[in-house]
Amino acid sequence: MGVSDSMRAAERRATERAFVHTIAGRDGAAQARFDVINPATGLVFAQAPDATREQLDACVAAARRAQPHWAALPLPERHARLLRLADVLLANREEIAALITLEQGKPFARAADEVTRAATQLQRLVALELPVQVLRDDDTLRIELHHAPLGVVGAITPWNMPLVLSVTKAVHALHTGNTVIIKPSPYTPLAVLRMGELAREVFPPGVLNVIAGGAELGRWMTEHPGLDKISFTGSVPTGKRVMAGAAGTLKRVTLELGGNDAAIVLDDADPKAIAQQLFAAAFVNSGQICMALKRLYVPECLHDAVCDELAQRARSARVGDGFEPGVELGPVQNLAQYRIVLELLDDARRAGGRFLAGGAALDRPGYFIAPTVVAGLSEGARLVDEEPFGPVLPVLAYRDVDEALQRANGTRFGLAGSVWSADVARAAAVAARLEVGTAWVNQHVGLDAHVPFGGAKESGLGCEYGSEGLKQYTRMLALHVPRR
Ligand code: NAD
Repeated sequence: MGVSDSMRAAERRATERAFVHTIAGRDGAAQARFDVINPATGLVFAQAPDATREQLDACVAAARRAQPHWAALPLPERHARLLRLADVLLANREEIAALITLEQGKPFARAADEVTRAATQLQRLVALELPVQVLRDDDTLRIELHHAPLGVVGAITPWNMPLVLSVTKAVHALHTGNTVIIKPSPYTPLAVLRMGELAREVFPPGVLNVIAGGAELGRWMTEHPGLDKISFTGSVPTGKRVMAGAAGTLKRVTLELGGNDAAIVLDDADPKAIAQQLFAAAFVNSGQICMALKRLYVPECLHDAVCDELAQRARSARVGDGFEPGVELGPVQNLAQYRIVLELLDDARRAGGRFLAGGAALDRPGYFIAPTVVAGLSEGARLVDEEPFGPVLPVLAYRDVDEALQRANGTRFGLAGSVWSADVARAAAVAARLEVGTAWVNQHVGLDAHVPFGGAKESGLGCEYGSEGLKQYTRMLALHVPRR
């Protein structure tokens, strides 16, 4: 069987399969279902179970029952189980990747990368430790700082990277002794539901639960008295609702929210040398990455050369169904987002934007938009001020670096940003002035499991990854022990 035959076989299996919740290690019967659409066709190809409030209650009860036993397991055993989950994901990589391509739209090779990344991030996170810290140790008193689990964590995730975001939240929670209930986006529930089924052979019942549903289920979770924390990744407006919903029970929250990341090219950069990386940073996953490059500031002297390089790449990028061989960019994931991106393009046209590549939907079924590079805009145009979350990049000309920094920072977003130059020390000095959680020099988009990642301003609250990220799934316990 060739690669595309096996992809098609995986696709067929996915469309024939009945998807179920995982509640207390068993199937949660579906009392209602909702449609799942393939964004490459715009057609329904599967159905997902829609969790009821009673099913959420059952999940919470199971997770609460399981948590003390899970936390009491010796750490090496918890870790062994988590590492086993990585093996299970890798062993089922093709099937899960086919589900991701079908429901999310990204090319099959990128979907397979997502499965691998979920497994490798898991392995790296498990290698991190939160040791007991000794704060005082003398003749009279020893004081230790412990990091105890919170209890049950609710993980609510978006549609752009469905598997990797769900798995990393689960690993943070389980590594630190919590149990977890994952709710994937209703646009992309299938790969995560399947992961929940596969995880039943790895964890005791109730440790890792997966239930599908929409905004209402998300709201029930944020308000539920049996959950101790919500780890949320999604848009800024929903993040604010989650925080408000969690306030009633003073739940802990980690919010990983949207971004409108700027890159600043300095005047000594070589447009040809940096163009491919800039293009990839903006158009990866068809622009649907929180930390994708979304505004590109270029000095007037390099503006036309940078625009030419990017426009050429945008025009020649192969866009299509993620199962077609050689496709680099898939569709926008859902109709609502597709309409938002087209609206932003209309607004850019009215604001005097010059479309150097793309600028419109592709004339084919599904939610395809041609990779778009726009010049001639400035702040005030919606495409510059809002998070586009689609295959679109505005290139903005600037005169001096202070002006570029002021414009890059002049937003309520603050997720990440980058600076590009032949002189890395000069670039680092500029990058350190970006009001963001992550700043790169001569790269953009990239995450290491041991480096905390989180947004400044309205791009988030708290962080994930690194020991800083793990701590946010724990409560501190300062243990005072007299010497006698
Ligand atoms: P979204 O906010 O619409 O939905 C995210 C999740 O929240 C979904 O599971 C949804 O069902 C659920 N939800 C909706 N209403 C809710 C409510 N009232 N209470 C609780 N849960 C609710 O986001 P989206 O459109 O799925 O994802 C795109 C956004 O995610 C973009 O803004 C992107 O930048 C952001 N994102 C951020 C990061 C990060 O790490 N900072 C990573 C990926 C995506």
